[in-house]
Amino acid sequence: MNIEQVYKDANALLDGHFLLASGNHSRRYLQSAKVLEYPKKASLLTDALATMIRTHGIEVDTVCAPALGGVLAGYELARSLDVRSIFVEKKEGGMELRRGFEITKGEKVIICEDIITTGGSALKAAQAIEALGGEVVAFASLANRGFCKRVEGNSNAKPACKLPEGIPLFALDDFTFEMYTPEECPMCQEGSTAIKPGSKG
Ligand code: ZN
Repeated sequence: MNIEQVYKDANALLDGHFLLASGNHSRRYLQSAKVLEYPKKASLLTDALATMIRTHGIEVDTVCAPALGGVLAGYELARSLDVRSIFVEKKEGGMELRRGFEITKGEKVIICEDIITTGGSALKAAQAIEALGGEVVAFASLANRGFCKRVEGNSNAKPACKLPEGIPLFALDDFTFEMYTPEECPMCQEGSTAIKPGSKG
């Protein structure tokens, strides 16, 4: 499966002039939710991710996603792995389990996102699970922005990556885009204005 083509076909990989959450500008942007619009296509992606996870001998009881971004990917991955699916939600400074979801001591949990940028939300989700006695055995994501090192990937972790070194990250592909500060941005110099797609665009 050509993952980049799957994202392009779903209009999830955009070309233009974008203002990223970091404040930098970029010619490309991943609108991750778009690749999950069609459940059957979404399940093909998570089937591939599940195969990778199983091939590496990771035992899993539960998939946990940080809401909102990770919920659909997490649910589909749980279906592909035939395990339980739960999610954690934002609270001040971290994430917490609500809605009657429970974790038993020693339960093996994968933290799943639609996209890992620096891994900040995934790390908070992992901390919430570990605080309840769960064991985080891996991180999983459909797309990896290239800051963190993924299993079977070529690039090394950048200093911005927040994920712990000892726990593997499984992702289908690396999407490493060139980024510019507003002052250095060639598109700004040509007179165009960066747009902010994000989750609100
Ligand atoms: Zn710009």
